[in-house]
Amino acid sequence: MFDLGKEKIEIKCECGRKHTVTFRDAINRKLIKCACGSNIQLNDGNGSVRKSVNDTNRAFKDLDDTLKRLGKI
Ligand SMILES: [Zn+2]
Repeated sequence: MFDLGKEKIEIKCECGRKHTVTFRDAINRKLIKCACGSNIQLNDGNGSVRKSVNDTNRAFKDLDDTLKRLGKI
């Protein structure tokens, strides 16, 4: 099933290295350790990532349910 939480986003350390994380990592406020020694604390701000992930997942679930229902007719 589609899960926006698995979508990847790229964050950049102040040293210039790029790190690939998922939306779920951001929601879980995962701590990324960069090779330069910096720790990057992922932060879901005011919960907006979590909200959009939930909203999108719900929308896809609704679509999924609708398709299943149509399939039964
Ligand atoms: Zn770095």
